[in-house]
Amino acid sequence: MSLEITGKHLIAGEWKGSGASFKSEPMTGEPREFSIGTPELVDAAAKAAEDAFWSYGYSSREDRAAFLETIAEEIDKRGDEITEIGTQESGLPAGRLQGERGRTTGQLKLFASHIRDGAYLDRRHDAAMPDRQPAPRPDLRMIQRPIGPVAVFGASNFPLAFSTAGGDTAAALAAGCPVVVKGHGAHPGTGEVVAQAIDAAIKKHGLHPGVFSLVQGGKRDVGEALVTHPLIKAVGFTGSLGGGRALFNLCAARPEPIPFFGELGSVNPMFLMPEAVKARGEAIGKGWAGSLTMGAGQFCTNPGIAIVVDGEGADAFVKAAVAAAKEVTKQAMLTEGIAEAYRKGAARIEATPGVTALTGEANASRHASPYIFETTGEVFAKDETLTEEVFGPLGIVVRVKDVAEMERLARGVHGQLTITLHMDAGDAEAAAKLLPILERKAGRILANGFPTGVEVADAMVHGGPYPASTNFGATSVGTLSIRRFLRPVCYQGIPEAILPADLK
Ligand code: NAP
Repeated sequence: MSLEITGKHLIAGEWKGSGASFKSEPMTGEPREFSIGTPELVDAAAKAAEDAFWSYGYSSREDRAAFLETIAEEIDKRGDEITEIGTQESGLPAGRLQGERGRTTGQLKLFASHIRDGAYLDRRHDAAMPDRQPAPRPDLRMIQRPIGPVAVFGASNFPLAFSTAGGDTAAALAAGCPVVVKGHGAHPGTGEVVAQAIDAAIKKHGLHPGVFSLVQGGKRDVGEALVTHPLIKAVGFTGSLGGGRALFNLCAARPEPIPFFGELGSVNPMFLMPEAVKARGEAIGKGWAGSLTMGAGQFCTNPGIAIVVDGEGADAFVKAAVAAAKEVTKQAMLTEGIAEAYRKGAARIEATPGVTALTGEANASRHASPYIFETTGEVFAKDETLTEEVFGPLGIVVRVKDVAEMERLARGVHGQLTITLHMDAGDAEAAAKLLPILERKAGRILANGFPTGVEVADAMVHGGPYPASTNFGATSVGTLSIRRFLRPVCYQGIPEAILPADLK
């Protein structure tokens, strides 16, 4: 296939323009013109999605599973085009785009098998007890039903796996919910090619075209119109704390408030226990630098804070991390805006009293070099701003006197997507005391590894207490993420003949 970009919005099966346009900001190649999204386009997409719900929301699991598999096939058919435009727009290497495509199609297929299995419906039945005293019990059946049209905000840092046909879209479509995507301005062309693939799958399966629409951005009122549209029933979002919070507030202020599943920032602290650091400080330091700088540090699970008990092991850890970070060549960041935010964030940390820069250099262009800073537990405990995410390859080492100080810092940690423990057998007692504290702070706790690299699996949780996410009961990765777009309905005494097919 050749790369054909219309620069338009896909509204219920038709490519539409709006009369005004914005230019993309690719890392390589020429900028392209894209039509600016408007509240009118959002309205048309949401109305078509509601229309589509009356058929799609009641379709069989098998039909939806086959549809998801066709989307995966159609994406793979366009693999070369997706890699071509994806690398141009994001500056990410081709291998990363190819890998991310595999993850994206893998997610779609995983959801296909997940809904075929049917366990996600959580079917419950309390049989009638007509002779129960003092009152009879009616027949009660419960099942999870799709909620209606869902809005999805594509993420800047995963042009495929968290964008147009990413995890949120796959989960919503699997549940039976039509989707309206607000495209991310960092990769509008990539978004369009993926939308073409979804459109082709819709046509192949003869589905209502309102099952999927893509509205490109360009102006803030697109996102606002989408989350406040009365026909939209939930929002899936990955992005910044500021943007996510603004949209969350809009959802809460609606006449009919709706859930906003925002996956926001995280600094993903690592706790380095004394025995582990003594035994393998150098190896952990090297591994940390690798995890911190991977993909220019533009991962929501980037481990930005390392809390380590001071001593020789800590020295070896820091030395190895700094040496490894210095080896990393400058990497392209996703957008000018993200590069600018990184520059400002690094300058803020560097100017913080009590913080020392061990390596790092301000980025003059969109290319970032890694920073490693160091401070003490005392300074860290007093300065809230050190716990704020700087999106990019930046880490802060916090040296603490002992495990008791580590425990005090753990209690002050805000909600996180992940927390990592590096521990050896001799650390088990101290780690066991720390774990109940960490459990209250993060969606995923891991030992002796690095949090970048999120498995798409049944047991995965990619979420956590605020500000990691706006809904601690949810995950945006893994099969459990489908629950965000379902709600339980109880059928009391409803005759078998008219029950939903999944309850019969
Ligand atoms: P962002 O600025 O929050 O934008 C995400 C999406 O939300 C975009 O489509 C944006 O539209 C829209 N949006 C943001 N604020 C809005 C508002 N007030 N009203 C209406 N729409 C709004 O995130 P980003 O572009 O990815 O920016 C990068 C920053 O996000 C990074 O510095 C990092 O902190 C964070 N980030 C976090 C994660 C994570 O996984 N937690 C992932 C990626 C990025 P417009 O672009 O049209 O404004």
